[in-house]
Amino acid sequence: MTGPVVGRFAPSPSGYMHLGNLLAMLLAWLDCRSLGGELVFRLEDLDPARSKRVYAEAMAADLRWLGLDWDRGWPEEPACAQSARTAIYETAFQTLLDRDLVYPCRCTRSERLAAASAPHPGEREFDSGCRCAHLSRAEREALLRADRRPAWKLRSPDTAITVPDGHYGAFTQNPARELGDFIVRRADGIFAYQLAVSVDDMLMGVTRVVRGRDLLSSAPRQKWLIETLGGQAPDYCHCPLLTGGAGKLSKRLGSLSTEVLRKEYAPEQIIGRLAFLCGLIDRDEPVTARDLLPVFSWDKVRKEDIPLV
Ligand code: GLU
Repeated sequence: MTGPVVGRFAPSPSGYMHLGNLLAMLLAWLDCRSLGGELVFRLEDLDPARSKRVYAEAMAADLRWLGLDWDRGWPEEPACAQSARTAIYETAFQTLLDRDLVYPCRCTRSERLAAASAPHPGEREFDSGCRCAHLSRAEREALLRADRRPAWKLRSPDTAITVPDGHYGAFTQNPARELGDFIVRRADGIFAYQLAVSVDDMLMGVTRVVRGRDLLSSAPRQKWLIETLGGQAPDYCHCPLLTGGAGKLSKRLGSLSTEVLRKEYAPEQIIGRLAFLCGLIDRDEPVTARDLLPVFSWDKVRKEDIPLV
C-alpha cells in the first residue's frame, strides 16, 4: 500500500499477555516503527463473557513496560475498543444485508461456530452449509419473526483469493470451498471477529497487519470483506508462533503470563529472549526494542514455529 504507514496492536483482553502474544506485538512494533509508521492500540473486547478490563489495563501496562509504545488508541480514545463500535459494525452489516451477502441462520450448529474472538488452532471453523442459505423470502421472514433471534452468516465468496503475505509469501484460499459460509453476527447480536476486524482495519486506515500465523487463514476473508465494503486491504505479515509442549503457547493455556514474567525478568531480558528465539539476534542477551530497530528485517525472522524450551 502507498501513503502513511499505520500498524496496530489488537489484543483480546481475555487473559494476561503471554510470550506468544508479545512476540507478535514486538514484531508489529518493529515492523511499523522501522517504516516510520504510526501505531494504533485497538482493544478486541467484543465478547463480554470473556473480556475483562483488568486484562486490558494489564496488557497496555505490559506493552509500555516493554517499551512498545503506540500513538493513538485505547484507553485515551475509548472508541478504539470494539465494544464501543457496535454502531459502526451495524452500518457495515447493513451494507452486506442490502447486497444480499448475509442471511439469517438459526441452526444451533452454526451458532457454535460463531466466534466473537479470533480463531486459534484447534478451533473448528469449517461450516459445511445449511438450508438457511437457501430459504425463500417467506421462509426467511418467518424466521425473522420467530422468538429466538437468528445468527447471520456471510455467503462466502466462491473464488480464489490471494493474500501476498510479507513473510510467508502468497497465500491463496477459496473461502466457500475451504471454510464454507461464516458467521458475521451472533444470535445474541454480537458482531463476530471477522467482520469487526475487517471494518476496523479499514476505517482506522491500517496498512500493516502483523500477527501470529494462526490468523493467516483469516486474511483472505478479511481482504475480501474490506474490498467488498469499498476499502483497501492492508499488507499482511504473519509471524511464527511460540509453541510449548502442548502446541501454541497462548494465554489460554494459563501459564507464564506477563504477571509472572514481570516479577522475575527485566523488560530487556524478555525482549532479548524473544528477539533471539525468532532469529533477530544471535545471542540471548538483554536488548531494548529500540536497539533492535537497526537490525530488524523480516528476512531474519524464522518461518517455522518456535518451541519454547
Ligand atoms: N485479537 C486477536 C488476538 O488477540 C488478534 C486479531 C488480529 O490481529 O487480527 O488473537
